[in-house]
Amino acid sequence: MRIDVSELLRTSRGTLSFSFSELLTGCGNEIDGYIFDTPVEFIGNLENINGVLRVVGSLKAEYKNTCSRCLENLKGGLSLDIHESIVEDGSDDDPDVYTYKDGIADIGRIAQDNIILNMPMRLICSEDCKGLCPLCGVNLNVSQCDCGKDHFDSRFSKLEGYFKDKKPND
Ligand SMILES: [Zn+2]
Ligand SMILES: [Zn+2]
Repeated sequence: MRIDVSELLRTSRGTLSFSFSELLTGCGNEIDGYIFDTPVEFIGNLENINGVLRVVGSLKAEYKNTCSRCLENLKGGLSLDIHESIVEDGSDDDPDVYTYKDGIADIGRIAQDNIILNMPMRLICSEDCKGLCPLCGVNLNVSQCDCGKDHFDSRFSKLEGYFKDKKPND
């Protein structure tokens, strides 16, 4: 998402509109298990305010992931308002500021950082999701199992008997 801002920098208070529809790069389209395999749309304006570029825009991204309880595939989307500034490279010691260099501003990192900040911490298919049975792995939203009813299967029953038969200090 590279923008040639050399003309804009020559015009005080000038603006430049941009529109991108690109795959996220630099993160392999995956952030913390969230898959971004469709283009991210980022449109907006840059304004030159005494050499600081003000970015105002909106960003849309779609992601795929699985429900953290039942592991069903899920899709979701983000729709974000973006307000950031880009300063000339070398004009600020803070490594976290966004910079432009040689008349080029790359707003890909702005897109990526805003996506990371706004992703849901945990994804569930529904508040009522029953998840998977921890013993047999069955999806409890679609079927039932008998695990909850009888925790001890035959192997454990035999073991119980073994301990009972054993005399103390034997
Ligand atoms: Zn679920
Ligand atoms: Zn079960």
